[in-house]
Amino acid sequence: MYAAGDVRIEDAPDPIIVEPTDAIVRVTSACICGSDLWPYADMERSETGQSMGHEAIGVVEDVGAEVSTIKRGDLVVMPFASSDGTCEFCHEGLQTACVHVGFFGNNGMNGAQAEALRVPFADGTLYPLSVGEDDVLMPSLLTLSDVMGTGHHAAVVARVKRADAVAVVGDGAVGLCGVIAAKRLGAEQIIMMGRHQDRTKLARELGATDVVAERGKAAIEQVRELTGGRGVHGVLECVGTEASTETAVAIARPGGAVGRVGVPHYPAIRLAQPMFYKNVTVGGGPAPVRAYIEELLPDILDGTIEPGRVFDRTVDLDGVPDGYRAMADREAIKVMVTP
Ligand SMILES: [Zn+2]
Repeated sequence: MYAAGDVRIEDAPDPIIVEPTDAIVRVTSACICGSDLWPYADMERSETGQSMGHEAIGVVEDVGAEVSTIKRGDLVVMPFASSDGTCEFCHEGLQTACVHVGFFGNNGMNGAQAEALRVPFADGTLYPLSVGEDDVLMPSLLTLSDVMGTGHHAAVVARVKRADAVAVVGDGAVGLCGVIAAKRLGAEQIIMMGRHQDRTKLARELGATDVVAERGKAAIEQVRELTGGRGVHGVLECVGTEASTETAVAIARPGGAVGRVGVPHYPAIRLAQPMFYKNVTVGGGPAPVRAYIEELLPDILDGTIEPGRVFDRTVDLDGVPDGYRAMADREAIKVMVTP
């Protein structure tokens, strides 16, 4: 990506092992993320460009001398952040705060919308799968890179538990995975807040019990009505705008929690007073998806959850620029890339 709206497919030198802890992964499937749409909307022109993409499944082609658990030929999930797997934050299951963290497709780090890429700290970062490259579950497995783990993180931070009333703000792929996660954790009422009919229809199929298409005050009113005037126990904030965050705080019931996973594009969270007087907890951040793979993978393998349903278009590498356009125009929910 060279600037807002300027995505190009270019030949780049093949990635090589630089550090002895690296692996080279040949990408078998990748995708375009809702968070890629932020720079697609507002990136300043760059001479060198930024290699994009942070979600992938691929085959390990080469490993450095110090890589011990990941082997050549392994089919692996690549979480959106690299982590060493050994520091205290990794041990605590917060790999996105690893002392060696790196975010693929960001700040000069190579991206996964490519034929291959270099992965730092292969042992800590990559998660080997026991299925074949052409498994029918591949779209769902690919969501372990980001969106399913991120939706799950929103639900965990929002402290979703059995019988809860929950709201999901945002009908993008993360919000839809948030619906799956809330249902999986036992929520009884799941209110999807979104206005794109194709997405809210899918949300209902995935477990949403109610849909609120309004925004702002009208939306807050409607959630209150749907919850007997109390508000919801947990809010999964999956957008990252000032308005979506304000709505999230407003619809939380006293003692409730907001899990934020939408990258914040605002300087401060509003409604400090209601947040205080309602004892609402607001938390969240980049999901440690590496930690959640272990928990979510079995449910994908046995068909309990089908997060791969968020993909509604597949393109090859040449189709990536149009994939960005389609997602930005809300013509596609999430685009898979098969290099
Ligand atoms: Zn670490």
